[in-house]
Amino acid sequence: MKELILIKSGEIALKGLNKNSFEERMKKNILSAVKDLGPFSIKSAQSTMYLMPEGACDMDEAAERVGKVFGISAYTRAAECEKDFESIKATAAEYLHDQLMDVKTFKVNAKRADKKFPMTSPELCVELGGFLLEQFPHLSVDVHEPELNVVVEVRDFGAYLHGKSLRGAGGIPVGSSGKAMLLISGGIDSPVAGYMMAKRGVSLSAVHFMSPPYTSERAFLKVQSLARQMTDYTGPIKLYSVQFTEIQEAIRDRCEEEYFTLIMRRFMMRIAQRLARRSENLALITGESLGQVASQTMPALVCTDAVCRMPVLRPLIGMDKEEIVRISRAIGTFETSTLPYEDCCTVFTPKHPRTRPSPAAVEKEEAKLPVDELIEKALSTVESRLITH
Ligand code: ATP
Ligand code: MG
Repeated sequence: MKELILIKSGEIALKGLNKNSFEERMKKNILSAVKDLGPFSIKSAQSTMYLMPEGACDMDEAAERVGKVFGISAYTRAAECEKDFESIKATAAEYLHDQLMDVKTFKVNAKRADKKFPMTSPELCVELGGFLLEQFPHLSVDVHEPELNVVVEVRDFGAYLHGKSLRGAGGIPVGSSGKAMLLISGGIDSPVAGYMMAKRGVSLSAVHFMSPPYTSERAFLKVQSLARQMTDYTGPIKLYSVQFTEIQEAIRDRCEEEYFTLIMRRFMMRIAQRLARRSENLALITGESLGQVASQTMPALVCTDAVCRMPVLRPLIGMDKEEIVRISRAIGTFETSTLPYEDCCTVFTPKHPRTRPSPAAVEKEEAKLPVDELIEKALSTVESRLITH
């Protein structure tokens, strides 16, 4: 018996003329997600993708990974058999044995895409249902709320049997919306922001600012772990790191304390932008959420954006912390995010930050610094590494 994974794409089906390139992208992303689990091949037909093992493969792990590939609305493990009723019966009884033993009620759902198949869908349902009732006498049929839906699909390449389908990760395939650079801290929000943009098809690079000796090596290792956890969904991420100490010390020494965070954020945006342009990123991404902290009020965002010449995507802008935490737990970054290592943002935190700063006042404070020189120096410290699964 041959097992495979059947995959339904979601929004891609709506993409009209671009459908093919979306599909090709998704196939590539799926294959790349499972490539270390054994040899797989993939094909698509009749709005379904077939992910097939071509040798010994870890199917449990493959199904897990497929569940995290964006663009997929539903997927299921299935058994393939010959398109004749005897073979369908035998495969159903064998492949779905454990699932059928686990429930008391079931229903058969037949989809006959191959109209040459001699039985109609209703006939298939009745006949296969009857056979399973004989084989599994503890079962009864419940057409309204069955515990298990036994699905038989008769398609071009063969017949397929499966139980419950699982919900896919949704969204559109990573890589189909261009590339953007995520400003990643060690906190809860920025990994969630990256995840959300990847869900809309954006492939990611990331930049992290660190301030040794105020921030430790462990804090940077934490950021690398977060980025690695994100790659399950986003694919490989090129992570840039920038030494930010000198900038922070200059701000501390020369500027009014109430503007520290804001000026620091403007430096981050300027540097991120320079890095983004070097590597074909079209936008920046941050984990900011309106009103969450002093630097995320509307007037503060105006001051931050004043130095940005490219779009800043802020997918969390309208979300509550609770909703952000829920996603963070679901994608598996929460535990790492809440490890207690310091971030450069918490190093020189003002006691009374301005919540309604004016751009003119910020600019005046900033004029006390050799801005361009500091930026060039910081850029000369950049290191990068490719983070993969
Ligand atoms: P997070 O949970 O992502 O740390 P936060 O609520 O703590 O966010 P801030 O510390 O004000 O918020 O940072 C706002 C955003 O600025 C972050 O979501 C992130 O995109 C970016 N950012 C903050 N610190 C850094 C850093 N050290 N390196 C890169 N980006 C950063
Ligand atoms: Mg933070």
